[in-house]
Amino acid sequence: MKQRVIIVGGGVIGTMHAWRCIERGLEVVHLERDPMPTMASVRNFGLVWVGGRRAGHELEVALQARQLWADLAQANQKLSFRANGSLTIARTSEELKVLEQSMDLPDADARGWELLSASQARKLNPALDGEFRAALHCRLDAAVEPGSVLTSIRDYLSLTDAYTWMPSTDVLEVKETAEGVSAVASDEAIIHGDFAIVCPGADHTGLFAGEFEAAPLRRVRLQMFSTMPLGVDLTTSIADGDSLRYYPAYEVPALAELPPQHPVAEAAKMQLLMVQRTDGSLTIGDTHEYDEPFDFALREPEYDYLIQVAEGILGRRLPKVARRWSGVYSQRTDGAVCERQFVGKRIALVTGPGGRGNSLAPAIAENTLDDWGIL
Ligand SMILES: Cc1cc2nc3c(=O)[nH]c(=O)nc-3n(C[C@H](O)[C@H](O)[C@H](O)COP(=O)(O)OP(=O)(O)OC[C@H]3O[C@@H](n4cnc5c(N)ncnc54)[C@H](O)[C@@H]3O)c2cc1C
Repeated sequence: MKQRVIIVGGGVIGTMHAWRCIERGLEVVHLERDPMPTMASVRNFGLVWVGGRRAGHELEVALQARQLWADLAQANQKLSFRANGSLTIARTSEELKVLEQSMDLPDADARGWELLSASQARKLNPALDGEFRAALHCRLDAAVEPGSVLTSIRDYLSLTDAYTWMPSTDVLEVKETAEGVSAVASDEAIIHGDFAIVCPGADHTGLFAGEFEAAPLRRVRLQMFSTMPLGVDLTTSIADGDSLRYYPAYEVPALAELPPQHPVAEAAKMQLLMVQRTDGSLTIGDTHEYDEPFDFALREPEYDYLIQVAEGILGRRLPKVARRWSGVYSQRTDGAVCERQFVGKRIALVTGPGGRGNSLAPAIAENTLDDWGIL
């Protein structure tokens, strides 16, 4: 008989654990508190970002994850995975210097980096009509659609009878029993299995609150928005020069010579990321807020600033803003790829991938199963 794994959490981390378990011949019961996932995994850009990852282990995990995303897209043709690449835009000579020095880093090739002149970048992405000096092309960066990716993966897993999706199941307790594990839901349903993997996202105060409290974790809130359709194709994802400060890949001497950020960007720890959805709309962000309690309101100066930067790069007015939202993710404070704990012999806890969770999720899942060594 197949071993049965209970997975708590229907975000991308839980969903990728479900996929990897099914691939290993296990049975999966997948529990989610809400009728459909509504947290970080559906509020994000959908970026699968390799280019900016920290050298060493994080980059290795990102490359492993990028391959797994491509494998999943190959197996599941309905997954809207696009190997669209990205351009990181240098608008100042100081930003260009960071890019030039980064091209000499030993892992530049592994990241699929190429430094393009402004005209070469426009050839690749003709929607870029604004003023800039150069752009770093990362051909490995990709994107998925946050609005459909989890459903598409669950539909694919449901083609096997080894996968059971149980939405609207708020799990109050997960514990080891004499026979295996059990999960107790708020409606008093008890689900039995052989192992459990708990992937609660930024909910650090529910299941295993003590374990999460003791871990080097924090929560981070971001502001985002999307526009009406742009009317032209934005063929690659876009990052602005401020991303050089926040992505750890660009550890070169010229980084220290970057002038201060715009005051709004500095206060809200911002970078511009922009990706076109398959319906032509743009998803644009982001800000970073670390101090809790988080503001319940969305703040306008940050949006004004992002719009100004996006319009400067595109050289055109943005379409009307259609939606604004915020999202919260869980992040390890020491830069580790994620928080992974094994509780007893049969329960794993996985969260804390930070702003990289969508990019790294399939590899994080694969590595949980490898590290556990019992599945
Ligand atoms: C605005 C924003 C933009 C981002 N952009 C990107 C990006 O472009 N690329 C990238 O790589 N990463 C990005 N990230 C980070 C990424 O989205 C997260 O790291 C990732 O989604 C975390 O996935 P998760 O499954 O751990 O958490 P979540 O998506 O929060 O999912 C956790 C799920 O567990 C459920 N749950 C919790 N407790 C229980 C319980 N007791 N019982 C049942 N269900 C429970 C919740 O309801 C939730 O659905 C972004 C994050 C945000 C907020």
